[in-house]
Amino acid sequence: MRVAVIGSGLGGLLSASILSEKGFEVDVFEKLPFIGGRFTNIEYKGFQLSTGALHMIPHGSRGPLARLLKSVGANVEIVDSKPEGEALYNGERIEIRKKTFPLRSRLKFVKLCLKSKFREVRMSEFEKGLDDFSKRFLKAFLGWSLSITTKEASFSRILPMFNQVVKLGGPGIPVGGCKSVINALSEVLLSNGGKIHKARVKGIKPGKTFSVAAREVKKYDIVISNVGHVETAKLLNNQYVQNLEPSCGIKYSIALKEPFINHTGVLFTLETRRISGMNEVTNADPNLGRGHLLMAHQPVITSNVRYEIAQGLKDIRDILKGYDYEVLAVQCYSDGWPVNRVKAGQDIGFETPYRNLYVVGDGAKGDAIEVEGIALGVENMLKKLEVSI
Ligand SMILES: Cc1cc2nc3c(=O)[nH]c(=O)nc-3n(C[C@H](O)[C@H](O)[C@H](O)COP(=O)(O)OP(=O)(O)OC[C@H]3O[C@@H](n4cnc5c(N)ncnc54)[C@H](O)[C@@H]3O)c2cc1C
Repeated sequence: MRVAVIGSGLGGLLSASILSEKGFEVDVFEKLPFIGGRFTNIEYKGFQLSTGALHMIPHGSRGPLARLLKSVGANVEIVDSKPEGEALYNGERIEIRKKTFPLRSRLKFVKLCLKSKFREVRMSEFEKGLDDFSKRFLKAFLGWSLSITTKEASFSRILPMFNQVVKLGGPGIPVGGCKSVINALSEVLLSNGGKIHKARVKGIKPGKTFSVAAREVKKYDIVISNVGHVETAKLLNNQYVQNLEPSCGIKYSIALKEPFINHTGVLFTLETRRISGMNEVTNADPNLGRGHLLMAHQPVITSNVRYEIAQGLKDIRDILKGYDYEVLAVQCYSDGWPVNRVKAGQDIGFETPYRNLYVVGDGAKGDAIEVEGIALGVENMLKKLEVSI
């Protein structure tokens, strides 16, 4: 069976490598000069910055992505974070565990979990009556992990993701950063005879087989699109989906002479204007920077990006007071290169109106945070194709 994969992002390469391993004939098409989409490294001033992700895998070596990487023989070492997370609150650092949250707030969580079995629960209902620490933590967690505010989130829809955190634990950092995952997958693909073509796909024409137009028109039995539902619909010249609301964010990459966080987990910042959290990936892999690489992230609250960045930089100035640091890059993720093509909890799954045409990646995720959701989406798609992993 011939398979065309449109886009070499994480979802595309994950699908391509697994299918090539199972004997499918796979062609990947990528319009950019590099592979990996929003999950690879960019070298700058001796630091491994990234095209998107904060070099973190939400459930580290225990999550769905690690499981798929292992099953396909993609060799990636993941350093699980320890502690998984801390919160900066009242000038103190507090380790995040279940018991960090007051009993009243934990009971409220359990009560709303039960309620959500019968009806949709809004996040505002959960927020109401929470203690100050839990309320601020919720805001920082959503901003850091999903680039959304509490107003944009539904408790019921985010609950499966919370449950995964409880079950699988916190994040990990791949040694070598995002690029090591992409390189490992492309090695599997190429070693199985798969091909990566540097070409933009301009159209897909369904029929008995699919005609995929890139530099030339070629026929495929299966098409897997890694460009989201909206772009896929455009390639089909079809209106099956139009507007899905993306989530936007701003990422800051900061060089430090001395470490600031000093561990491999996330530091959630609870008393800021915008910044939701930070990580210091060089604590897991010193080769990610010539010095220490601190990454900070914020959701975008207003439509004025300059204002948003000014707020974020003020936060960074306050947090890093007394530290010798340099902001290496400020990257804004919106429009065609957002944090998420579809706001968390609103993904519409991998299916399209066409048999054997599927969407993987962001926007077609399963119920887990970011790349873990991408891995679940790929697993669901493979089940549909009756490919066992
Ligand atoms: C600031 C930021 C921080 C993040 N942090 C994390 C994190 O720490 N952990 C985490 O789990 N997730 C994180 N994410 C999310 C994660 O990076 C993305 O969910 C993931 O990388 C998206 O992968 P994808 O499979 O959707 O592919 P994409 O990255 O969207 O790649 C799609 C590819 O398709 C190509 N393409 C598009 N159109 C065409 C065409 N017509 N023809 C050929 N090729 C085409 C593109 O060039 C691109 O390479 C973060 C994202 C951002 C922006």
